[in-house]
Amino acid sequence: MNRRVRTRIAPSPTGFLHLGTARTALFSWAFARHFGGDFILRIEDTDVARSTQDSVEQILASMKWLGLDCDEGPIYQMQRLEQRARGEKTRYDGRWRPEPGKVLPPAPTGVDPVIRFRNPLDGAVTWDDLVKGPISISNKEIDDLIIVRPDGIPTYNFCVVVDDWDMNVSHVFRGDEHVNNTPWQINIFNALGAPLPLFGHVPIILGDDGLKLSKRRGAVSVTAYEDAGYLPEAMLNYLARLGWSHGDEELFTREQLIAWFDGTHLSKSPAQWDPAKLNWVNAHYLKTIEETRLAALVSQQLDRRGIAASVQQVAPLCPLFKDRCSTTVELADWVAMYFADVRPREEDLATHVTDAVKPALHTLRSKLADIEWNKAAISVAIKNTLTAHSLKMPQLAHAVRVLVCGRAQTPSLDAVLELFPRETVLARLRGD
Ligand code: GLU
Repeated sequence: MNRRVRTRIAPSPTGFLHLGTARTALFSWAFARHFGGDFILRIEDTDVARSTQDSVEQILASMKWLGLDCDEGPIYQMQRLEQRARGEKTRYDGRWRPEPGKVLPPAPTGVDPVIRFRNPLDGAVTWDDLVKGPISISNKEIDDLIIVRPDGIPTYNFCVVVDDWDMNVSHVFRGDEHVNNTPWQINIFNALGAPLPLFGHVPIILGDDGLKLSKRRGAVSVTAYEDAGYLPEAMLNYLARLGWSHGDEELFTREQLIAWFDGTHLSKSPAQWDPAKLNWVNAHYLKTIEETRLAALVSQQLDRRGIAASVQQVAPLCPLFKDRCSTTVELADWVAMYFADVRPREEDLATHVTDAVKPALHTLRSKLADIEWNKAAISVAIKNTLTAHSLKMPQLAHAVRVLVCGRAQTPSLDAVLELFPRETVLARLRGD
């Protein structure tokens, strides 16, 4: 590879950072990092009607959250372009296309002319796609693209080429919805005498229902996953595996990704979004991240529910519950009981807090009022209560859990209770 590796991501700021764009950004970033090249962020804000500053900020925030640092940018495609010559069904008939010996008809009056790119008539545009392999499209299928509109504003396919050339982009990874633009772009590159980048068109991501991932059927933005309690390292890991593999590796660090990602082993077929696998990956990282950071994330989740709990207060609680959680939202569901009232469900109360158990609850409460407040002493109090009332552990433990924790299943009861202030436990056992 004799050209310096320079990749870019060129999102249009018309919404949040879509998962598909995030993945393409991730591939472009990892590729640049692998080869010691540069990664550029270019904001294609030429669709004036749909581009918003809010969206630009969301995109930048999501890129930052994922840790996709760029070497250049954000560069804004400053001209206010109206999008785009794509999607036209009709084809230009070549009326004003200069040909040797041809007399061009006069331009109609009152019409500002466009500028079209004189596309080669013969031959084919061929490139070896980094993802899809060799692609060849006959020039007969490509018409003379409008590159400048009547108002003098250049169009999308032209801007992309100019920008990619100006920015010396060597490798273009993008979604395969752009595959049909590439022949035009290659012809324009060639006409300008510009060096061609290599192109890699990444297949779309399908939802778990096998249909295109779309907003109507679930979260499609990076922000939504951040809000839902996923960790950036988990998203990075999971997104990287969507359409790329390195042997059987499922869990890997950012450094490993960079070491392995050389643009090979990209899948030709669409990847399928798998929420259960994402949860599994996230659960792995929840177990491994630094405790204070985890506590801070849980504290933020609680704050969004109107529950004030500092990082210092939350930190000692997380270790007990994190192994059974996939997200920080789930972890906050557990930890919330230490800071806010619980509301046991009527059916749990009816099932577990029965008349047969109530006297034992009374005994336990008196014992708990009197002991040193630690796990071992709580455990002894529970056992003594069971013996005194000839009950089995689950009968008493379920009732205590429902009253104190608001749910019948928890980790080991003594460990859970120890983390409450004694007064809270006594009050909840009393049914206050
Ligand atoms: N702005 C285009 C998009 O968001 C990307 C163009 C490109 O990557 O070449 O779809």
